[in-house]
Amino acid sequence: MKPILYSSVPLDRAHALRRDGDALSRLGRHPDRLVAPCWKDLSLTGGPSGPLVGGSDAARLLALAEEVVLLGLRGDAPVYAADLSAVPPDPDGQPPRLGLEARWAALKAVGGTLPAAEAGILAYARALILWHRRTRFCGTCGAPTLACDGGHMRACQDPQCGAQHYPRTDPAVIMRVDGFDDSGAEAILMHRQSAWPAGMWSVLAGFVEPGETPEEAVIREVREESGIEVADIRYGGAQPWPFPSSLMIGFSATAIGGALCPDSGEIEDARWFSRARIAAEFDDGHRTGGGGPFLPRPETIARRLIDSWLDGKRD
Ligand SMILES: [Zn+2]
Repeated sequence: MKPILYSSVPLDRAHALRRDGDALSRLGRHPDRLVAPCWKDLSLTGGPSGPLVGGSDAARLLALAEEVVLLGLRGDAPVYAADLSAVPPDPDGQPPRLGLEARWAALKAVGGTLPAAEAGILAYARALILWHRRTRFCGTCGAPTLACDGGHMRACQDPQCGAQHYPRTDPAVIMRVDGFDDSGAEAILMHRQSAWPAGMWSVLAGFVEPGETPEEAVIREVREESGIEVADIRYGGAQPWPFPSSLMIGFSATAIGGALCPDSGEIEDARWFSRARIAAEFDDGHRTGGGGPFLPRPETIARRLIDSWLDGKRD
């Protein structure tokens, strides 16, 4: 089975090296260093060696970058994320080509179409670069911050404060609700949001709130969004979602009561779908046209939760 989208980053994160200034300097001079560039909200894709730029181009990109993060090691070669947002667009208004055989793309739009390893590295790079952009000033005192530890910490530059800021990961829950449709057939609850592509249906999701466990968030979110009460919460895997910094924690749950009453503020529609109905009506081919219903892409945690149920599993 392929990894879940944006997970299984194929790098040694080299945690011990991040605080070793000598090692960081040595890695910075490594002849085989590799760079995953970001420009504004775009990531570089489709290059000759996947998302990573090497050789003399790597040195050039690192020199142009306003922020550089050591993502980890591939073999003994360091891999960096580089924020090139300060580089102006090309004269034709397009993102800077920088003499590279690759193209800029929005990861959110193309991530599911990329090889798993490429999508994972780009998501990891994007998450850290976005965090740096949002953490330039100390949230405690307002003074500027400076990147440390290979880009995995930002330190407040006010000596009276000295707060240390670390990359955020915001937990969200995504959950399949198991129940029955009006005919009494086993069914799962899926919904649509107006911002989604026409025809796409998926399971419910929401953010974990302060002072709440993921399981409690599942119960609350399902109640708020659909009116259904659930119990028997089972963990079912997770998917990073770096837009900008979420981790979607997957669960399945069993409906035990309530009445289907979708929250009109958040949800366009919510319905129970039996296996027979999904088999008869849903088709991945509808994703690229035709207007019929389709499920999320196979690599997503949402689809894994749905496929697990279609295969007759409880989790
Ligand atoms: Zn501060």
